[in-house]
Amino acid sequence: MNEKKDSKKPLIVYYIIALIVVMLLNALLFPQIQRYSVKEVAYSEFLTMLEEGKIKSVQIDDTQIAFTPTEQLDDGKATYYVTNRVTADDKIVDRLLDAGVTFTQIVPEEMSPIIEFLLSWVLPLVIFYALGSFMFRRMSKQMGGNSMTFGKSNAKVYVEAQTGKTFDDVAGEDEAKDALKEIVDFLHDPQKYRDIGAKLPKGALLVGPPGTGKTLLAKAVAGEAKVPFFSISGSEFVEMFVGMGAARVRDLFKQAGEKAPCIVFIDEIDAIGKKRDAAGVGGNDEREQTLNQLLTEMDGFDAGKGVVILAATNRPEILDKALLRPGRFDRRIPVELPDLAGREAILRVHARDVKTEPNIDYTQVARATSGCSGAELANIVNEAAIAAVKDGRKSVAQRDMEEAIEIVIAGYQRKNAVVSQRDKLTVSYHEIGHALVAAKLENAAPVQKITIIPRTSGALGYTMQVDEEERLLMTREQILDKITTFCGGRAAEALIFGRITSGASNDIEQATKLARMMITRLGMSDTFGMMALETQSGQYLSGDANLVCSDQTAARIDVEVKQIIAQCYERAMQILTDNKEKLHELAKILLEKETITGIEFMAVLAPNQLPSTFEPTDAAQSGAQGDAQTDGGQA
Ligand code: ADP
Ligand code: MG
Ligand code: ZN
Repeated sequence: MNEKKDSKKPLIVYYIIALIVVMLLNALLFPQIQRYSVKEVAYSEFLTMLEEGKIKSVQIDDTQIAFTPTEQLDDGKATYYVTNRVTADDKIVDRLLDAGVTFTQIVPEEMSPIIEFLLSWVLPLVIFYALGSFMFRRMSKQMGGNSMTFGKSNAKVYVEAQTGKTFDDVAGEDEAKDALKEIVDFLHDPQKYRDIGAKLPKGALLVGPPGTGKTLLAKAVAGEAKVPFFSISGSEFVEMFVGMGAARVRDLFKQAGEKAPCIVFIDEIDAIGKKRDAAGVGGNDEREQTLNQLLTEMDGFDAGKGVVILAATNRPEILDKALLRPGRFDRRIPVELPDLAGREAILRVHARDVKTEPNIDYTQVARATSGCSGAELANIVNEAAIAAVKDGRKSVAQRDMEEAIEIVIAGYQRKNAVVSQRDKLTVSYHEIGHALVAAKLENAAPVQKITIIPRTSGALGYTMQVDEEERLLMTREQILDKITTFCGGRAAEALIFGRITSGASNDIEQATKLARMMITRLGMSDTFGMMALETQSGQYLSGDANLVCSDQTAARIDVEVKQIIAQCYERAMQILTDNKEKLHELAKILLEKETITGIEFMAVLAPNQLPSTFEPTDAAQSGAQGDAQTDGGQA
């Protein structure tokens, strides 16, 4: 910070000096322009003045005549009077003689060619050179030291006090923590391991979806190990100049070797660790050189020396095989999305930093956020704190948490969005359609909340379902019931209004995805059985799948998908037809109240048999879930 301020000041001073020099040059080279004003006079007027004897002396050059009048025309300030010389007037000399003025012809002064050359060519060059070298020196100073620092690693050296993170800051992820604790222990006391002859892995690779705390874990290792910690991001190796990436790797490992025992952390290693192309065409030479250098350096390291290399990535499948072989990143530490207990722990860790009311039910919040990463949970706690401030309160309450979950899932409320009564009615029936179908199905998660308040994500309404317990496996029936629930919205529209709307677009997309997955990946169709028809790429990112089957099979998959969805739609329609009265009744309530809880919903649907999970407690009124059906999109 300080350094930046220092370096800016002289630059401004330099600009000012340059400006002054230019002004001085102008003043010296063209003095008359600076010191006198020039007044131009028409030639005819000049002749008139000449005849009237008002002109004292005249100087003539090729294009102009400058003259001094007998008396100053204006206020007596020294003024040059000039007139454009009319070349056709060859009697000018006679006229001047007649008028008896002194006159001289000025021969335009030739500048010496050497001086002209110096002024017009050498001087600007010198100025530019001076400016350039000055800037270069400044810049290289900022980059650290002298101008020979290109290719230095630029790795930040962290020591324990600076990352400020410990394993206590990382919640859940116990397996990853255990694996890393071993490494920390080794760095503290390598002799213990050497005595028994155990070798610790040279490198460990943290893999997992984005936001699960990989970078955080590495920082925690640095905080716990109390050894120097070199941290660099993969993209920082990719340089403007070919060969510099490799030079950086070399330098990084040289520094690390000097500081051992220490930790080197390469974040987002996929930036350099991508598979090298077999074809070699269109390959990236620079990246490959960097990767080769990294492989070489890792081999050259003596594991006993106490340099541990950590790396993190969310795309392990694109890494070069050579990186993963024993002796390099031979230990792979998965950092997965947190489970129920993990989510609760993460929420508690982040809630330490905000003022909360004592009665917050973290288990409930954790249950409602299945599928959320650590980063998203941290975001939910922060949004809750913001919601509390907006509401003018001094601490976070349970309802702030609930609102925060909805914000993360569906965006902010659009309080002043104008939705016509007709659209509201349609959305009400649509949402109750989902909820009613879900409630009547055996394997669908219970309804938590139904709302028709528009959100910034474009959703005009949604129905939240929260599972009572964490589900790691899903049965065929559960998936089918889920698809049926997705169909409920559109079925309600068709049943009640006899017309359908664009509101079901998101439902359709999700239902199709599920049906397709059943057939191509889960082996749940009668036609294909246990046959993998798709492979997944990028498991931690988008989860894109590639078809691995013939075109005919692909066509049959489409037919099958269509059948599954059609059957589910039939079922949904049947349920709604059987419960048409309740559908009308509930949609009317929702239209009026805009938001109803699962308890209110069940109280109307089945007044006599409130399920045990819906005890009317504070906690049960809360929550949303990753598989909420959000509708709208076109709003
Ligand atoms: P990644 O590198 O895996 O993409 P980060 O380590 O950058 O994710 O995590 C981003 C943020 O999310 C962290 O700074 C932290 O606030 C929060 N976070 C993620 N996982 C956890 C966790 N297990 N415990 C506590 N906080 C977490
Ligand atoms: Mg990261
Ligand atoms: Zn819907």
